[in-house]
Amino acid sequence: MTETFCLYDKKPYETEFTAKVISCEQDGDRYKIVLDATQFFPEQGGQTPDRGTLGDANVLDVQIQNGVITHFTDKPLAIGQEVMGQVDWDYRFSNMQQHTGEHIFSGLTHGKYGYDNVGFHLSDSVVTMDFDGPLTGEQIQELEMKVNEVIWKNIPVEASFPDDETLKDLPYRSKKELDGPIRIVTIPGVDVCACCAPHVNFTGEIGVFKVMNYQSYKGGVRISMLCGKRAVEAIQRQQTTMTNLMNDLSSSQEDLPQHVQRLQKECQDLRFHLSEIKEHMVMEQVENTPEEEENAFIFMDGLDVRGMRNGVNKLMEKHPGFCGVFSGNDREGYQCIIGSKTLNCKDLATELRQNVGLRGGGSEAMIQGNLPGSEEVISTAISRYHAKLTH
Ligand SMILES: [Zn+2]
Repeated sequence: MTETFCLYDKKPYETEFTAKVISCEQDGDRYKIVLDATQFFPEQGGQTPDRGTLGDANVLDVQIQNGVITHFTDKPLAIGQEVMGQVDWDYRFSNMQQHTGEHIFSGLTHGKYGYDNVGFHLSDSVVTMDFDGPLTGEQIQELEMKVNEVIWKNIPVEASFPDDETLKDLPYRSKKELDGPIRIVTIPGVDVCACCAPHVNFTGEIGVFKVMNYQSYKGGVRISMLCGKRAVEAIQRQQTTMTNLMNDLSSSQEDLPQHVQRLQKECQDLRFHLSEIKEHMVMEQVENTPEEEENAFIFMDGLDVRGMRNGVNKLMEKHPGFCGVFSGNDREGYQCIIGSKTLNCKDLATELRQNVGLRGGGSEAMIQGNLPGSEEVISTAISRYHAKLTH
């Protein structure tokens, strides 16, 4: 099949076009449509495809193979007919902004550090670029500001197909060996790169460039970025979160990190005090368990493992049967530690697993785990098993 003529190469700002339907094949519940020319940019180079319509059919996906562009639609189109195509401009323009922003950042990074952009993803959820060398937060911020300076200068972005002779002496960034006519996107003084995607005409149209996040990645760095409306929307969301946090904590933006650290410290201290008080309460209950009982159980909410274990050890000094400390409540179930000086707790665990739904286990001397069910159900089950063993 002959290659599809790419209208977006030369006129990325035109969203309406007419083209002839070359083929239409059913593909599950979709239709694969090839036109003689298209304004739809297909998925390639890490960029998601354009959206829009062909006639009254919605374009759901656009793919390219050997220069042939296939539109996946929800309706069939008659072969041979002229069809009107309409590309979703907001979506296209946003992708143009992100992509040109990426070229500027990559060009400046390449110029200053010699790193190559080895991975680019432009999707609805993220825009990321991977570089094959490390960058610090400070270096990234500096580059980010430089990108915005290029935006403010409103430099023209030029796309051309130089002949082989010109190409030979042209230093340009390229991800891979390309064949066929090579499209070169030039931002004078900033970047020269082989690229097939639509770009804005002037850098000023990008509006704003913002790095949202970065992380070390395969010995280099992965940078998450946004341009234009998407950047402003993301910053608005962050600002809302920040304002809510500042109001909730009655804190200024500058004081927020310290404020949160202070809260964490307070929380840690309180947790420690609470654990001490609870342990004290457990020990009091241990004192109060009647000496003559063979088994002894203590149920209390909010105990930690240390408090539970100390409680069980203390109970075992007084009671020869099963001694258990249970932390939790009837609604959500209990975390438990059960020990015994004379009886096999492993066998008890088997019994409780079958009858009450214990999750956990341990040694013959002590078991630990989680129990669903109420205080009533749990203590009855253990007492009944104890009675079966001893009578
Ligand atoms: Zn590109």
